[in-house]
Amino acid sequence: MKPDNILNPAGPASDELVPSRYALRIGDIEVLVISDGVLPLPTETMSTNVDPAEREAWFKTMFLGPDAFDWALNVLVVRSGDQTILIDAGLGGQFDGFPRAGQSLRRIEAAGIDLGSVTDVVLTHMHMDHVGGLLSEDVKSRLRPDLRIHVSAAEVEFWAAPDFSRTDMPDPVPEVLRSTAKQFLDQYHNKLRTFADEQEIAPGVVARRTGGHTPGHSVISVSSGKDRLTFAGDLVFPVAFDHPEWHNGFEHDPEESVRVRVRLLREAAASGEWLVATHMPFPSVGHVALNGDRFRWVAAFWDY
Ligand SMILES: [Zn+2]
Repeated sequence: MKPDNILNPAGPASDELVPSRYALRIGDIEVLVISDGVLPLPTETMSTNVDPAEREAWFKTMFLGPDAFDWALNVLVVRSGDQTILIDAGLGGQFDGFPRAGQSLRRIEAAGIDLGSVTDVVLTHMHMDHVGGLLSEDVKSRLRPDLRIHVSAAEVEFWAAPDFSRTDMPDPVPEVLRSTAKQFLDQYHNKLRTFADEQEIAPGVVARRTGGHTPGHSVISVSSGKDRLTFAGDLVFPVAFDHPEWHNGFEHDPEESVRVRVRLLREAAASGEWLVATHMPFPSVGHVALNGDRFRWVAAFWDY
C-alpha cells in the first residue's frame, strides 16, 4: 500500500486509544512524528553533576519520579520530493525490559507507509534506541535493497572503539549499546552513506554533525519556504530548558553536550523554528522561548 502522501494515510485505522502519530507540513515537505513508545529510566541519569536533592526537587515540580520516569521515544518520517526519509528507527522489540518501546515501525505501517517505500534513513547517532528498530529480520526483509543510510563518518568511527569513560549509565547498558552498534554496522555497512559535517539528504532536508552526545551526533533540519523544523536527536531532554547545564549519563562528552545544547536552543529561540527531539514527550513538537537567560519549552497547539 502506497498512499499519495503521509498526511492522508491509506492504511488501516489504528486501534490504539492514544494517538501515536502527529503530522505537520513544513512548506512543501510532509513530516510525521511517530512515537516508538516509552522506556523507563532512573531519574539520576538525567543529572549526573548535581546534588540528588536538587534533582529530586525538579522531578517533583514536574510531577515525575522520584526514582524512575518514562522517557519518550520519537522518530520522524519526512517526505520531500520523491524521497521518503526515516529519521532514526527507535528501539526495536528485541530488548528485554522495554515492552512499551519498539513500536515505531509497526506504527509507520499502520499509518499506511510501506517500509519498502523508504528511500533513506538518517541517523542522529548509533545508540540502541535510535538504530535498534532496523535490526529485526521482520524489518530488514521489508526494506528496499537500495536503501541509503546516512550517518556521520565520525559516528561510525567512534563505534569501532567506543569510549564510555565519561558516561554514567546503569549496567548493562554500555555493553548492550556497544554490541547493538556493532550489530548494526555488521548488517548495514554496505548501505551506509557517511558525511563529514553536513549533508543534504533530499531537497530541504539537511543533516549536520554537532557532536556532544556522541562524537558523530547530528541534527536534521527540514526547511521549505519560510518554515523550518529541526530534529534535535539527543541534544535536548525534558530537563534541558530549566537546566541545560545538567549532564546526562548517556552523554559521551557531557561538557561539549552542554555547549552544543545551549547553542541549539539559542538558535531555535532566535529563529522561531519548530523543534522536535527524540526524548521530549510526544508529539515533541514545539518552540523554544528565551526569557532573559532562561529557556522555556512552548509545546505546539495541536492542529486537528
Ligand atoms: Zn536516545
